[in-house]
Amino acid sequence: MQHSPPHRLYFEIILGLLVIVTIFAITGEEQILEERLVIDNTSGMALNVYDDRENGGNSSIHLEDKKNMQWHCILRESYSYPHCGFEILFDKERTNGVDLRHYNKIRLWLDYNGPSQTVRISLRNFDPLYSKKEILQSTKYNQIEFNVGLLNGVAEFSLKDFFVANWWVLENKIPPQLSHPQFDNVTIFEVQTGSGRPLGKHQFHLHKVEFIGQALTTADWYLAIMMFWLGIILSFLAYRIIKLKDEVVIQRKRESELLEINEVLDMRSKALEIKAKTDPLTGAFNRLGIEEAISLGLQEWHKYRKPLSLVMIDIDHFKQVNDRHGHDTGDLVLSHLSSIVQQHTRTQDLFARWGGEEFVLVCRDTDIESACAIADKLRELIANQTLHKDIHITASFGVATLKTNENLEQLFKAADTALYRAKAAGRNRVITAA
Ligand code: GH3
Ligand code: MG
Ligand code: MG
Repeated sequence: MQHSPPHRLYFEIILGLLVIVTIFAITGEEQILEERLVIDNTSGMALNVYDDRENGGNSSIHLEDKKNMQWHCILRESYSYPHCGFEILFDKERTNGVDLRHYNKIRLWLDYNGPSQTVRISLRNFDPLYSKKEILQSTKYNQIEFNVGLLNGVAEFSLKDFFVANWWVLENKIPPQLSHPQFDNVTIFEVQTGSGRPLGKHQFHLHKVEFIGQALTTADWYLAIMMFWLGIILSFLAYRIIKLKDEVVIQRKRESELLEINEVLDMRSKALEIKAKTDPLTGAFNRLGIEEAISLGLQEWHKYRKPLSLVMIDIDHFKQVNDRHGHDTGDLVLSHLSSIVQQHTRTQDLFARWGGEEFVLVCRDTDIESACAIADKLRELIANQTLHKDIHITASFGVATLKTNENLEQLFKAADTALYRAKAAGRNRVITAA
């Protein structure tokens, strides 16, 4: 038993795997596309601190451990808005920042100790439309202020919740169309003491800041998945077309091969058919072969009343030929006689070896007179020929034609009887059935 090769199953397995991958790609979109920007004590970024002394205040900030981003701040009553702040600079020049637009969350690991209820963080955006390099305050304040209670462990905020400080809009005379939060060129991340004049000592330790976003938008991600599938489908189609073309070529080749085989078989079977109907020694038809001719003649007789005649032929004293010259010579004489008869009969007449040295000639569409004439011509030809090794032979002929209300058996019997009479009358003659 031969099993069909399993490569069709490969296709299904690959398709199944691709579907699973697609499901993962859709359900795990957030994890797959997640992008992080981490700032901690290993980032080695430029840091800066400031307090309200530059505004005429009296507060002071102390960077305790620069590497570990630890500082404290003492706010003192003096300036109308006492404050201090800690900056991480994305660009020392404060002009070429980072594009944070594809981040949507910020996570903060910040310890705070002090009297304030709130802490403020800002993402400062530089844009030449409203920012000037020499005026530090002209970079936009995207900020949130939140309760220090949120700073247990990690605090997470959405960048959507950032707003632009109102005092900055007023102070810089920003038109409304430029006063929305903006993160395309963030130059500074900033931690500030909260509003509300919280005087006293504020202790900060910033462990880590993390921005979390998506490398591709959801729309782009789905587009990519779709393109991927279109690519798969297109390559599959291309593969199928190439495969089909090959198959058509193979099929055509197979068909022509089959045709060739059929032709050969046809020829073989025809040859076998002929062989089956032919006597091997003389090349004349055998009994089987003559059957067809007789049945055809009978049909013509019944349908169209075309006369059907038989000529029975028997070699005279053939036993003597065998006895004198040997059996093999006898065989040669038989085939020689056969070829003489075949050469001198019409194509419609069928010549067969009836057995031993007896032959029969079936003459379709031939009346008794014509059959007699044919028989006599053959008789003369045979008698006047010198066959193998100076052997002369003669043959006797019995001729009969099919009569109304007569059957085939009667026809053969009539021809036989005529032949017998020819023998009895001295051989080498043609006798017609009465
Ligand atoms: P008649 O004139 O009465 O026909 O005499 P005959 O000798 O021809 O007739 P008979 O029937 O007595 O003998 C026929 C002989 O033909 C007998 C047989 O040995 C021979 N014979 C039959 N078939 C073959 C054959 O295939 N090859 C050869 N060489 N001889 C054959
Ligand atoms: Mg005989
Ligand atoms: Mg004989």
